[in-house]
Amino acid sequence: MKKMKHLIIPSLLVIGLVACNSDSNSVKEDVTVANAVQSPKRGTYGIETAHMNTEVSPGDNFFEYVNGTWLKNTAIPSDRSNYGSFGILRDQAEVRVRSIIETAASKENPSADEKRIGDYYNAYLDTATIEAKGLAPLEADLNRIRVAKTHEDILSLMTDVRLGLDAPVSPYIYIDAKKNDEYAVYLTQSGLGLPNRDYYFDEGEKSDAIRAGYVDFIAKMLSEAGVEGSMDRAKAVMEFETNLAEGHWERVKQRNRDLTYNKMTRAELNKLAPGMMFDTVFADLGLSDQDSVIVREKSAIENAAKVFAKTDVDVLKDYLTANLLSNHSSYLPAVIDEANFEFYGRTLRGQEEQRPRWKRGVSLVNGTLGEVVGKVYVKEYFPPASKAQMQELVENLRGAFKEGIDGLEWMGEDTKKEAQYKLAKFNPKIGYPDEFETYEGLNVDGSDLIGTVKSAREWSWNDELSQLGGPIDRAEWGMTPQTVNAYYNSVLNEIVFPAAILDAPFFDPNADPAVNYGGIGAVIGHEMGHGFDDQGRKSDGDGIQRDWWTEQDAEGFESRAAALADQYSEFEPLPGEFLNGRLGLGENIGDLTGVTMAYNAYKRSLGGKPAPVIEGMTGDQRFFMAWAQVWAIKWKDEALSTQIKNGPHSPGEFRANGIVRNFGPWYDAFNVTPENAMYIPPEKRVKIW
Ligand SMILES: [Zn+2]
Repeated sequence: MKKMKHLIIPSLLVIGLVACNSDSNSVKEDVTVANAVQSPKRGTYGIETAHMNTEVSPGDNFFEYVNGTWLKNTAIPSDRSNYGSFGILRDQAEVRVRSIIETAASKENPSADEKRIGDYYNAYLDTATIEAKGLAPLEADLNRIRVAKTHEDILSLMTDVRLGLDAPVSPYIYIDAKKNDEYAVYLTQSGLGLPNRDYYFDEGEKSDAIRAGYVDFIAKMLSEAGVEGSMDRAKAVMEFETNLAEGHWERVKQRNRDLTYNKMTRAELNKLAPGMMFDTVFADLGLSDQDSVIVREKSAIENAAKVFAKTDVDVLKDYLTANLLSNHSSYLPAVIDEANFEFYGRTLRGQEEQRPRWKRGVSLVNGTLGEVVGKVYVKEYFPPASKAQMQELVENLRGAFKEGIDGLEWMGEDTKKEAQYKLAKFNPKIGYPDEFETYEGLNVDGSDLIGTVKSAREWSWNDELSQLGGPIDRAEWGMTPQTVNAYYNSVLNEIVFPAAILDAPFFDPNADPAVNYGGIGAVIGHEMGHGFDDQGRKSDGDGIQRDWWTEQDAEGFESRAAALADQYSEFEPLPGEFLNGRLGLGENIGDLTGVTMAYNAYKRSLGGKPAPVIEGMTGDQRFFMAWAQVWAIKWKDEALSTQIKNGPHSPGEFRANGIVRNFGPWYDAFNVTPENAMYIPPEKRVKIW
């Protein structure tokens, strides 16, 4: 069964700032720490004014007003499905990481860590060896699938953590959301090759084409593995997945923390889903002694067990064969790698070209040995002064938030007290972990790429297993320092900002304060906002999932949240494809809260004095422009469509515009009137926090 990677805390629990998106392109000149540079990286005060389109009125389309010229003149690189502020920083981080890896690899007497990252990276780049070996590295595994006869045989393949195979149910180990001084085993729905259940049932030409492409892809994998009659068999695999999908929860329901916390005994689990033979599964995974389990999507797992039990072993064998090739495609000959890209890159994301091999190698090393790289990364590229400045910003945001809660007219005193406690307990992590992972025992063999991939999977699972029964690791990070993203983690009530996002346009020590507040300030507020979004509000200041709201205050919150969800459901990024306001609700509450708190913190920082006017722009104008600048992202239609369906993050345009139109000071800053397209009357504007 596919295990979550050690470094990545299960994404179902952690809420990042943007969708995970590892595709990447052009190599930018690497601007390093550059102590000598005292001017901002963008424009004269932190905003690239050359990117604006001043022909457009800010009140008609603020996103276009701030970014229009950039949007018009920028092509999405052919090996990417979207491009913009995040992608540009990712390019930079990638170039830096490559240099870290190559430096390590070229050392005469490398340390054990340096040797690991160098050997792994070089083995990945050695496509001649990969071609020469063909499918040989997987032959023994393919044969194990060939000789499988029973459902037990299938399960023993699915639970072999070294193979990383898909299965109808996926286990992972993480902190118990209601008893957060211990780790728990979670079970979640799994096993689909398409992004989510809707892809199996959505109507229309586009959806038909995706499904047809997927069946072709399965058939291709089967025929490459030497299976005869691959097209018919691929269709049978598709039918199996469709039956699984039938029971899968949709994304909106999966977000619901009340519905997805179902703690039960092993006996209860066996009764719920006998067909999955969980006693065997748990034994195979080294979990024999585990008495309890937290089931996320209860009815989906019940259904999965039924579907699994009634599906022919031959179909399950084909499912695993296709999956084995697909999930190793990047380590196999080009014909398989290309087929995988054709479907997952081109069809689903509109990406024209595969990313260059070295970039994919960087991703591989980052994913497996990320903190070895991160340790060097922060030493070379993250100035200690940035950390201090960030700490100050976080505290200023916290101060503004505190005032905000005090002033809420819809919330009663008891709930406010709990909210204040939670706010005071937010634990900020900035830049990099105090202690870096050492990956002890992870064996990297430069002459055996697939063997190393398997060892890494095994290592990760054992690392998770070792946490069971032990103390909570509060120092652990769910992202590496070289990740351009940020997250909130409710079980530890922490907000986390990796080093690589602490750069322009988000943060620039030399930019005007209004720009830093509108950029990283709003991002800090966004992550804090997750602690108080429609799901985050279900945990308390100590990270324990429990209801601390009076009924009346909960209603007050829900009605405001519903109004925001309704607004977002009206946005139509592609013809006929609307956002789902409920799917994006947590993110959009995060954004609305983030901008509100960052703005208030900015005003407080001025200490009652007026902000200077710079190049004709007021402080308030610069603040909002910074927010819109951060969301300058362009999308390929296919990727945008996938993003709309899979959420939860709204496309940049709607993150920029959908928020400011709810916020009074933006109207004042740009003289927005009822004649403007983005105008909404004051009584329809949503204010939650
Ligand atoms: Zn978020």
